[in-house]
Amino acid sequence: MNRIFSGMQPTRLLHLGNYLGALRNWVALQDQYECIFCVVDLHALTLPQDAPTLTKNIRAVAAAYIAAGIDPDRNLIYNQSAVSGHSELAWIFSCHTPMGWLNRMTQFKEKAGKQKDMAALGLYAYPVLMAADILLYKATHVPVGEDQKQHLELARDIAGAFNRFYEKDVFPLPEPQILGEATRVMSLRDGTKKMSKSDESDYSRINLTDDADAIALKIRKAKTDPEPLPATLEELAKRAEADNLVTIYAALENISKQDALSRHAGATFSAFKADLCDLAVAKLSPITDKMNQLLGDPAELDRILRKGADKANEIAARTMAEVKDIVGLLRP
Ligand code: ATP
Ligand code: MG
Repeated sequence: MNRIFSGMQPTRLLHLGNYLGALRNWVALQDQYECIFCVVDLHALTLPQDAPTLTKNIRAVAAAYIAAGIDPDRNLIYNQSAVSGHSELAWIFSCHTPMGWLNRMTQFKEKAGKQKDMAALGLYAYPVLMAADILLYKATHVPVGEDQKQHLELARDIAGAFNRFYEKDVFPLPEPQILGEATRVMSLRDGTKKMSKSDESDYSRINLTDDADAIALKIRKAKTDPEPLPATLEELAKRAEADNLVTIYAALENISKQDALSRHAGATFSAFKADLCDLAVAKLSPITDKMNQLLGDPAELDRILRKGADKANEIAARTMAEVKDIVGLLRP
């Protein structure tokens, strides 16, 4: 059976990269797979969080899933900390994961900053928890942005190592699904850095909650170069910021990058940015409106999350019982 698991961290609010690189693809996949979409709140704790803001962001991420088109009646939507199996399986996996595998992870190197010794153990162990998230449900497919490819490979390695050690075919090796034109949306301020929730500058990203004025201002201020847009993808590839804006345009408009470029070849950035802004507002404002409407009724959101967690827990409990028996842990 094919089963999808994916999640987003409630660190700040979701942005255009999260939407184009992952969330939008989830919406299409819900028709073909059994899907589990998690708000990975335990992952958010790997960097310092303000407690009341974290609680608000957990509901906001769940609202974004639903507003983007994930149907809570057909898919499981819940927050990670409500299902204890994630942490339990992560511990068992951490006892089967060589530190050398984690030392290779580039996200830790980027997020830990210069003082690696002061980074939290949880930030280092993040990919092990991510492997547990996926394998707790024996998910076969994981739709993510390109930045998560390395963590997915580690999840496959952990699944394989566990299966070999216990000589049992317990876990499938989950496949990454990196889909669409915008698998790595870059920062609006720096074409060499990916757009991230954790970037200090709010001008680096377009949030799903930004209104038309905020979107217009951020696109206007987005870093570009003085030349008009080129006609070929080869020329575009040499200009990181221009390339990123054309990628965003193509993804929002659901056309290829070449078609997006042909439409605007020779245009000045001010003309292209005005078009991009209109397109972004047209595509995002229905999601923002729906999100705001959902956030107006937190009790209903909590009810959806509770229902999702109960169902997720049924699957998780089965896996944990199986794993505990295989490992030799007593279940009195
Ligand atoms: P943080 O900075 O807190 O890590 P993030 O922006 O990287 O936040 P995550 O919650 O870590 O967001 O990732 C959620 C999903 O969005 C993942 O599937 C990830 O691959 C995808 N994603 C994140 N950033 C981008 C991006 N810039 N372009 C495309 N996909 C992205
Ligand atoms: Mg991230």
